[in-house]
Amino acid sequence: MTPLPAPAGLVGARPDLPSRSPWIAQLSPDGPRRPLRADVEADVLVVGAGIAGIATAFFVLRSTSMRVLLVERDRVGRGATGRNAGQLTTYFERPLASIATQFGESLAAEAQRGFDDAHDLLDLMAAESGSTVRIERFTGHMGMSTLNHVTVHLRNNLVRRRGGLREESCVVSEDADFLDAIPSELEGLFSVVPQARIRELLELDDDRYRAVLSDRKGCANSGLLVQQVLAFLETRYADRFRYADGTHVDRLVVGDGGVRAEASGRRIRAGAAVLCTNGFTGHVVEDGHGDRVELDEAQRITGTIGFMAAFVEDERREPAAMSYIRNAEIGGPTPYVYVTRRTYDRPDGEVTLTCMGGPEWPIDHPWAADEPFPGELLAQMDDVVRPYAQPRRPPGLAYDFQWHGLMGYMPGMVRVIGAHPRHGQLLYNLGCNGVGFLPSIFGGERIARILTGESLAPSVFDPR
Ligand SMILES: Cc1cc2nc3c(=O)[nH]c(=O)nc-3n(C[C@H](O)[C@H](O)[C@H](O)COP(=O)(O)OP(=O)(O)OC[C@H]3O[C@@H](n4cnc5c(N)ncnc54)[C@H](O)[C@@H]3O)c2cc1C
Repeated sequence: MTPLPAPAGLVGARPDLPSRSPWIAQLSPDGPRRPLRADVEADVLVVGAGIAGIATAFFVLRSTSMRVLLVERDRVGRGATGRNAGQLTTYFERPLASIATQFGESLAAEAQRGFDDAHDLLDLMAAESGSTVRIERFTGHMGMSTLNHVTVHLRNNLVRRRGGLREESCVVSEDADFLDAIPSELEGLFSVVPQARIRELLELDDDRYRAVLSDRKGCANSGLLVQQVLAFLETRYADRFRYADGTHVDRLVVGDGGVRAEASGRRIRAGAAVLCTNGFTGHVVEDGHGDRVELDEAQRITGTIGFMAAFVEDERREPAAMSYIRNAEIGGPTPYVYVTRRTYDRPDGEVTLTCMGGPEWPIDHPWAADEPFPGELLAQMDDVVRPYAQPRRPPGLAYDFQWHGLMGYMPGMVRVIGAHPRHGQLLYNLGCNGVGFLPSIFGGERIARILTGESLAPSVFDPR
């Protein structure tokens, strides 16, 4: 999930393949499009029907009596929410210790607690909506090979410990040549194990890896979840919830105690607007004087395109989430490899689906969902990533799915949740920075609390 440049010398020797996501393949038919056909008023306008927008609508409807209008330019769950790895993970795409250095230890720990607790919010949303989406939970593992990897993650763990949070478990091989160099302040945050245990946890015959960090993980189809929660919201709150798809928000004007929007030729008036657009807005936000309303530079989306491939095995295997750091220092240029394995439901029964990720490219042109998957990149993933995902799988086989999606990165690498500092009617729940499934749900609940008038303590997520 860390950005990396496009591989040099990618020459289209192999045919490009259609982009096909396993999560979109599981969706029910959406039915006809329902664009806005008239001007409309609402208390809250939510823009974007991915996991952030659906979670925001869910919690706002649940904890207020407000009228909510959710507007989506495409169909529900067709953005990053339908094109991710679907891993339930709660880390920041930047070391927690560096967030603590910037914002202070207590705000960093509070932010981490929020992400950790989002597991419960997900369960609440799934249970209350009657969603049938399969949610699997297990312990996931990250392979580390250098002193830098271990000290960075143990320092994160120190922030967790001091903040009274659940600690990640860390084991270091008795054969690690850096064992004696681990700083004494980190003692008690790891245990020493035989190298065979490292191999077993990582399911890998590769003794470069000398340590493992393990934590609570899981996986689910976030696209299917949002489709089902949307259907629930439309029934449960039929009197005050409205959804329009095929409706592009072009312009938002904040001021006069509310927000005015222009969306595919229709006008919307709302008391507040929440942008859940993953940052890729395609719209302009202005104040009443026509001046642009923007966030601090550290909070402006740059973004990358993330690529994934997956293969099916008939043999049932335990669900798993593994990542393998491949550069010597955290933050270096070589992407880490991440693999998720889960039960996948098909009309003819359950199979095991293993998803492989890693490559991310900068965006040099507008992303298009139906753009093909570069054949040469798939061949590279087959060479480099497949041996981590399933060493027994022979090279060169076709993949069952290969797809790409937008990753909303920001220079500050911390999600933005809350009201604009000068325009309280404009709120944000966006900027996944690589990990956005649970954080979007956490953000939705936080937005609902803000809209109920609760005065929240400052947080690392505050828009600036
Ligand atoms: C390849 C890949 C792998 C990933 N893997 C993981 C993972 O394993 N775990 C994890 O936690 N996260 C992962 N992520 C990130 C995660 O998927 C996203 O953070 C999350 O889905 C974002 O949800 P969202 O609702 O913010 O955005 P989206 O799902 O992109 O939804 C935003 C919606 O806003 C709509 N929109 C935008 N502008 C407008 C407009 N002007 N008018 C109307 N509608 C508009 C878009 O059409 C879109 O439907 C991954 C992402 C990718 C791409």
